[in-house]
Amino acid sequence: MTTVNYNKIWQGVLGEIEVQISRANFQTWFKNTQIITLTEETVTIGVPNVFSKEWLEKKYSDCIAKSLKHLGVNARRLNYEVISMRGQAPKAGPAAPTQVRPVANHAMPQQALTNRAEPGQGMLNARYQFETFVVGPFNELAHAAARAVAERPGQKYNPLFIYGGVGLGKTHLLQSIGNYVLKSRPTAKVSYCTSEQFTTQLVRAIKNQDVENFKQRFRAVDVLMIDDIQFIAGKEKTQEELFHTFNNLYEAGKQIVFSADKPPKSIPALEARLRSRFEGGMPVDISFPDFETRLAILQRKLEDRGAILPEPVINLIANRISYNIRELEGALNKVLSSCELSGPVTDLSKIENLIGDFSSPQEQTTTFKAVLEHVARHFDILPEDILKKTRKKEVVVPRQIIMYLLRTELNYSFPAIGRRLGGKDHTTVMYAVTKIENALEKNEQLRGELATIKERLYNY
Ligand code: ADP
Ligand code: MG
Repeated sequence: MTTVNYNKIWQGVLGEIEVQISRANFQTWFKNTQIITLTEETVTIGVPNVFSKEWLEKKYSDCIAKSLKHLGVNARRLNYEVISMRGQAPKAGPAAPTQVRPVANHAMPQQALTNRAEPGQGMLNARYQFETFVVGPFNELAHAAARAVAERPGQKYNPLFIYGGVGLGKTHLLQSIGNYVLKSRPTAKVSYCTSEQFTTQLVRAIKNQDVENFKQRFRAVDVLMIDDIQFIAGKEKTQEELFHTFNNLYEAGKQIVFSADKPPKSIPALEARLRSRFEGGMPVDISFPDFETRLAILQRKLEDRGAILPEPVINLIANRISYNIRELEGALNKVLSSCELSGPVTDLSKIENLIGDFSSPQEQTTTFKAVLEHVARHFDILPEDILKKTRKKEVVVPRQIIMYLLRTELNYSFPAIGRRLGGKDHTTVMYAVTKIENALEKNEQLRGELATIKERLYNY
């Protein structure tokens, strides 16, 4: 039989299968397949990589055999062989997901740059580079501003203030600025720390009567980056010291970069003069990644590891985790390690189970008090006001979120929730919980807010 005939038969088989399975599955598993040889005993099918080979063998052999039969081919055995995309020559195919190789060099330079950051400060991690940062509509402004600052520190956008929810790339951008500056200006002094580290050092300096040294150290840098600045809320001495450090550096034309989980105007208990400094430069936000960018991020991380996963698996991960890139990475790592341990995952429901953990932390516990306080703090209102009988607009939504969290995180009954929240009727509680559930489906902003609240609930 000639190749042309093989081709005709295979097109017939594909035609039949195409109408039986989803388009995504068809594209993923049957693209670039063909019949290589056909005898009375065996049909050998060429496939583009090891992964397709295993998947087709396990999942689609029956279906293929049936279709072949309909076309008059009664082979007893189906054989799959990896072939190159362009020609017929067999080849190993791209790495299967079981073979995870080390991150490519450009993504993780061998030598960390931490040694050239200022002593006693937070660490710069060489993993965070602009090259490894995927840009999409949700973060392009923050990325562009960070790059501009890294290329010409102190000249544009000063201070740069990057804000957005947890796990969305703020630390990655700050550290990329630091790493870039250290690379391009070997003599520059770069300082990166979290606001908690800033506070801790200040407290230690006060205790050791060494505040002068603390001041000198921070005021001698060319680029000062303070991560998660929202945690200086309510810390008066830290705010005062930061204010003076800021003015000093600013006047000397040095670059200052901050990150926070919300815009300056929404950070509670922040001195007005500091708030106006934060607002005086360039505040840019990072919102939530759209589906396409989530896919691009997953693909990029796979590429860096030299691993591949079938499209439906990548789609599933991108679909399920939409508001936190750290979790997106975590889910991907989990799937990849599972592949390393027990071979390619052929069952999408198993993947669902694996990554399900990310949306519902199981072993963590919280309390009524913690839920109340964290939600109140998030919305910058007093816990007492939530418990009061009031319909004030600013407490209605936080109260509904608390009801929702008590139900989902603590398994409270509706009447119990009503009692705890100042004697509300259980139907009011049911209404509130359903309302939040529905809103969460549509409203990405709210999903992010809840993610932030939960992260704090369990991690602080
Ligand atoms: P945040 O500081 O906003 O909480 P991080 O900067 O720590 O978030 O990011 C969380 C994780 O997600 C990090 O591992 C980071 O490298 C990764 N990440 C975030 N944004 C991106 C992006 N745009 N492209 C690639 N990786 C990203
Ligand atoms: Mg961070």
